Amino acid sequence: MIINISDVWADAVEHHSIFLNGEIDKGLLELSDSFVDAAICDFVEANRRVIVSGTPVELPMCIEDFEGRFGGGFLRECASERLKDIFNFSEFSKKSKKTWTAYHLCLQAKYKICCYCHMVSTGTCLPDEDLKGYRPPIDHYYTKSDYPFLALTLSNFIPCCEKCNGSQMKHAVDFAKNIHLNPFTDEESIEFELRPIVVAEEMVAKALALALPSTSYRLSVEAKKNHAASNASIKTFQLKSRYEDYSTQAFYLAKKMKGYTARQAMLDAALDFPLTLEDHLEFELDAYKSFPYGKVRVCIAKQYGAIPE
Ligand SMILES: [Zn+2]
Repeated sequence: MIINISDVWADAVEHHSIFLNGEIDKGLLELSDSFVDAAICDFVEANRRVIVSGTPVELPMCIEDFEGRFGGGFLRECASERLKDIFNFSEFSKKSKKTWTAYHLCLQAKYKICCYCHMVSTGTCLPDEDLKGYRPPIDHYYTKSDYPFLALTLSNFIPCCEKCNGSQMKHAVDFAKNIHLNPFTDEESIEFELRPIVVAEEMVAKALALALPSTSYRLSVEAKKNHAASNASIKTFQLKSRYEDYSTQAFYLAKKMKGYTARQAMLDAALDFPLTLEDHLEFELDAYKSFPYGKVRVCIAKQYGAIPE
């Protein structure tokens, strides 16, 4: 993940909790008094608070409890099938006349850009008689196939883009066993830097002065902290090659950012309207999460001295 979205669902918590408690009540009523069903009922009731409104750091405890009770074999398979009926994500994700669906939820998201790549918009339009509508895919941080009881849990829902959620990237990778950055709990630790592609020694000064053509520079992606999880995220979401395609825009932004403060003082004196840092970034600094490529643009502005580190 590039950006932390810990508060993405802040406006949806109340509505979603009512919905999910209702789904659990309905689902438990359908269970029989068989051994497996009784065990499922015990598990769900013992973990109901975490399933409905647990924080992201509480979810692994719930996973551990599930694995402790049901193991990894046939019993788990039976339990999983029953849990899929209670926590029915495909029903929730469908377009319907219901008052709370994945479309209503995604409309409440505070951020409308994919947090895994921070390249693609993830806006929502409710379907109606005229329009088919659209919404972003919802990635289950802990996969719903492995942990069906978390299939409707808000703190397990990551709105993201089709590509990041698709078979070439996250898809069924189990983040409970294969540690990656969690956009709800981890601090932002992936950063960007514009670098000249290796040049002859006599060209180094020119390269650092951004005096070579744009094709002589490449945007690099690096883990600055939390290295193991950050590098896993960089690899899974193929951020190095995806961001390489943004090198040209990064180069032209770098040229505006280099010597920005000094140049701006001269320009402000000569012009009757100021051109601010935000004009170049094309967003307000503290709103960088809400714009595609916002994070990389802030990194470039820092790299070239327009924003203090
Ligand atoms: Zn994405």
